[in-house]
Amino acid sequence: MIQPLVIAIDGPAAAGKGTLARRLAAAFNLAYLDTGSLYRATGVATLRAGGNPALEADAVKSAQTLDIASFSPSDLRTEQAGVAASQVAFIPGVRAALLDFQRNFAKQPPHGKSGAVLDGRDIGTVVCPDAAAKLFVTASLEARVQRRVKELRDKGETYIEARVRADMEARDARDKDRSVAPLVPAHDAWILDTTALSADEAFAQAEAYIISKVKR
Ligand code: C5P
Repeated sequence: MIQPLVIAIDGPAAAGKGTLARRLAAAFNLAYLDTGSLYRATGVATLRAGGNPALEADAVKSAQTLDIASFSPSDLRTEQAGVAASQVAFIPGVRAALLDFQRNFAKQPPHGKSGAVLDGRDIGTVVCPDAAAKLFVTASLEARVQRRVKELRDKGETYIEARVRADMEARDARDKDRSVAPLVPAHDAWILDTTALSADEAFAQAEAYIISKVKR
């Protein structure tokens, strides 16, 4: 059997991973999984059940019984969902409960696709260490704050820039410092710094990198 083509995309919040991963999946005709949505859904489900996303028993129960189809994108894209996600993501039992779903998606991509693009924090290091191409997409804190602010403004949401910056710094720290699957580039990942790049430029560089990896 031909092995599915797996592309791993990791990096901090608002570095441009999601947009890039979606475009790459379309360009290479691959399935796409936003793994952050699993952690966001676990966080939101915990809050909805009246639980505390930072409490192991509450969060693990939500992860083990997660029905991802019951969440709309707008439920998951709020700042509150992002913060709850980074709290549940800290808990090893939550990560273990979500691992099989992610690996199965990569092994047997839906809709008969010949491979998958997964984006997250630990795809190249933990979920799919054998991925054919691994990108670590990053950008300066300031660039990421400005992108998130623009996103919130475009959605008509009220925001306080200093608050967005503080939340992002706290989320970065939690993602980098946790003991299980911390946010670090895989040793064989290609680092793409998008601070000074447009979305089109980032896409062109990533596409060229992937072609160079898979045409060996
Ligand atoms: O990528 P996104 O901002 O949607 O992810 C939300 C949170 O989920 C991250 O801050 C991180 O704590 C967690 N996450 C993770 N591992 C992944 C994807 C997301 O720990 N593979």
